[in-house]
Amino acid sequence: MIPFTYARATDADEAIKLAADRQCAKFLGGGTNLVDLMREGVEHPETLVDVTGLSRAVTGMDGGGLMIGAAATNTAVAGHPIVRRDFPVLARAILAGASPQIRNMATVGGNVLQRTRCLYFYDYAARCNKRQPGQGCDALGGFTRQHAILGASEHCIAVHPSDMCVALVALDARLHLLGPEGGRSLPLEAFHRLPGDRPDIETDLKPGELITAVELPPSAFGRRSAYRKVRDRASYAFALVSVAAAVELSAAGTISDVRIALGGVAHKPWRARIAEDALRGHTPTETSLRAAARAELSHAAPRAGNAFKVELAERTIVAVLQELIG
Ligand code: SF4
Repeated sequence: MIPFTYARATDADEAIKLAADRQCAKFLGGGTNLVDLMREGVEHPETLVDVTGLSRAVTGMDGGGLMIGAAATNTAVAGHPIVRRDFPVLARAILAGASPQIRNMATVGGNVLQRTRCLYFYDYAARCNKRQPGQGCDALGGFTRQHAILGASEHCIAVHPSDMCVALVALDARLHLLGPEGGRSLPLEAFHRLPGDRPDIETDLKPGELITAVELPPSAFGRRSAYRKVRDRASYAFALVSVAAAVELSAAGTISDVRIALGGVAHKPWRARIAEDALRGHTPTETSLRAAARAELSHAAPRAGNAFKVELAERTIVAVLQELIG
């Protein structure tokens, strides 16, 4: 372990100042990913600014939305009565991730910023463009079962590991950030990046910026939402494919609105807008659901080790939508 200093912030303004006053500072939430990365030598901050003292509140807003403090634990969010009632897809996604012990420690802000679990990223004997830009990528000719089939590049085929973020993208969540230049907010969908030729740049986070909250806008159909995760083990495993979806049906039985997001398939939570557009206004049948899923996956570029994910993703989209439509 490389030596580092530690400072604890009591609010967001103090956290920004503490980080700005120090070299190579990182914000520390529950530490469930960052501390592992430090042990492996992938991350080596000189200062950790502990931000677990920031807001943990989960607050219902006028009109039905929800504001979640970035220091709220995954366990607290998954168990919150408004989340369970109005956004069940989020509760189910969080409970599908990690173990109860990790969920008790992990924070919402940290979950958004967790890094890929690509085995080569953690292995210093392997070449990795994300760890060291320009080095190459040993995953390309290696074991690709867990890797991306959508939006990847010849520089990186890693996937984003979060379950929670897949549900948040389906729910049109917004991130609130505070930095040395002030505050801003943006859709979570726009926050994570595809790898392109700079897989080391994973998000739109600016130097010294801190996630302060996640906002869920009011959703007329959040209550009819679900999450399904397909993985190699029944628990404590990352997704091969996951699907978060919400559906609203018209009185005539057609799909008036739908949201679909995929996990385990791309460098970021993947909003399935092609499938959504194909379904809006149509009667949901097995044929129409399957055609929409197939259209979304028509741009997939799998490798030999993960070609199965294309069919798996199509089937999982159809299964989750059928579960919701009944
Ligand atoms: Fe690194 Fe990405 Fe290649 Fe994995 S897939 S070894 S994270 S560059």
